[in-house]
Amino acid sequence: MKASSEKCIVCERSVEKGSKPSFCRLHLETYRSIVGNYEKWRNAYGDLTPEEFLRRLENNNYAGKWVKEVARVMLSNRGLLQFFLNDLSYSGMKG
Ligand SMILES: [Zn+2]
Repeated sequence: MKASSEKCIVCERSVEKGSKPSFCRLHLETYRSIVGNYEKWRNAYGDLTPEEFLRRLENNNYAGKWVKEVARVMLSNRGLLQFFLNDLSYSGMKG
């Protein structure tokens, strides 16, 4: 079950333990903040789909480098996008 040589899907750092998708600590924190921000963005912009949200982040001059990297990788892979959607609905149900 150990995958100590596993690399972050965005950068070359090793994967944070228990991270799904496989992010390093920095990208995992960024990913979580993106999930948390979706609700705020949707409130501000109205009907904003998760994909549209990620595209806006990717092209946002005010977004940090980490945010853009995570947004880009989520958009590049269907499985990752699905993971993002699942995390959104989970956090939505809690709130
Ligand atoms: Zn990383």
